[in-house]
Amino acid sequence: MTDKRLLILDDDPLIGQTMEAIARSVGFEVVITLQAAEFFRQLDGWGPSHIAIDLVMPDMDGVEVLVELARRGCNAHIIISSGVGSRVLDAAARSAKEHGLPIAGVLAKPFSPGDLRELLVKSGSVSGSSGGQLAASTDRSFNDITEQELAVALENHEFELVYQPKVFCTNGILAGFEALVRWNSPKRGLLAPNAFISLAETSGLIRPMTREIIRMGIHWLGAGFDVDNETTESSCRQRLADLTLSINLSARSLGDTEFIDFVVAECMRAGVETSCLVFELTETSAMEDPVASLDLLTRLRMKGFKLSLDDFGTGYSSMLQLVRLPFSEIKVDKSFVMTAGRSEESRTVIRSIVELGHSLGLQATAEGVEDEETLSFLRETGCDMAQGYLLSRPLDSERAKAWGRRNIRQSLSGK
Ligand code: C2E
Ligand code: CA
Ligand code: CA
Repeated sequence: MTDKRLLILDDDPLIGQTMEAIARSVGFEVVITLQAAEFFRQLDGWGPSHIAIDLVMPDMDGVEVLVELARRGCNAHIIISSGVGSRVLDAAARSAKEHGLPIAGVLAKPFSPGDLRELLVKSGSVSGSSGGQLAASTDRSFNDITEQELAVALENHEFELVYQPKVFCTNGILAGFEALVRWNSPKRGLLAPNAFISLAETSGLIRPMTREIIRMGIHWLGAGFDVDNETTESSCRQRLADLTLSINLSARSLGDTEFIDFVVAECMRAGVETSCLVFELTETSAMEDPVASLDLLTRLRMKGFKLSLDDFGTGYSSMLQLVRLPFSEIKVDKSFVMTAGRSEESRTVIRSIVELGHSLGLQATAEGVEDEETLSFLRETGCDMAQGYLLSRPLDSERAKAWGRRNIRQSLSGK
């Protein structure tokens, strides 16, 4: 059986058949369903890697189907299609993402064969170079992962980090990396964080897990980039010394009173400056307990660490809170960046976030940059840094270092 299996839910058989022909031309097996009940039967029995859903159908609306998919922990790449207009489609995609669903993209009907092909091919190669295929993309459900299993995995050091480069928009020079956790489970394969982070959070395992992640990340950064010292110019050494590593923090970690002492000690052990570490928090996590957050975040800043407000534009915080908390960077959520090419609305949001960040003295990073046009647009807006598949997918530790060496060599040779 191939790992390219597309399950279609569309009440119009003609559309289903058209999609089928296109998908088969790029190597997919296809099953078409006309009704939700049949769709869910196939989902359970067949385990598609990709799903295409019509948003508007007579017996069940597509949004309900998406909610049910989220409830089941579906991890197939989802393509949402409809003739309802791109604003409604974008809204549906956003809501699906907020439910944690991996949305490969939206297709406004009528679509061209190229549009669908592109979505299938692009999402089909997810994590291709990240040092292993994510099993999560084809797994039907993670609802059976238990706390006990997670605790054992932690003890057995089954969690790993992959690193995604982040570059300056103006010249493409490497600014640093974001560390993203993966669970390399002997039983389940390589799992993406959406399969286990929320269980880690609710079970309290997130604290030891975050510490393990921080230990690995700091050690990786501290081990250096193996650039030949004799031929290395001082400007190159300086650049390497300035590289940052961003680490995601859950709200729960903010309640860990010994957290700061722990990170400072790890930095000292690995010979890493505290200013090289950036902690990424989401608006919601930073706002959960504003007083405790303010205390901890201020103390972190005083120790020299940087703080980044992640996924900006998707949370519910007020601007007042953003001003109150000592962030050094604002990260534009990828849902806006990935749609910048075709949505004027997204471009407006990006422009305003970059401007807001700059007016508060923060650096702005856009993540989810997938094409050159978006990168040029970001340059125009004055956005400081970019991260996304266009530059590189998240890479395993060795590949990430090789990427870094290549980038630095190229930038020094003036390319
Ligand atoms: P995030 O912090 O917003 O991380 C960015 C996510 O976007 C990553 O997914 C990354 O692989 C993906 N991404 C980057 N560039 C692109 C792009 O151009 N296009 C698309 N479509 N996606 C892109 P990943 O690794 O699956 O992580 C998902 C989320 O899991 C993260 O979102 C973060 O909230 C959480 N997470 C990851 N690692 C950790 C961790 O160590 N600790 C905690 N607490 N949460 C983590
Ligand atoms: Ca992040
Ligand atoms: Ca983010």
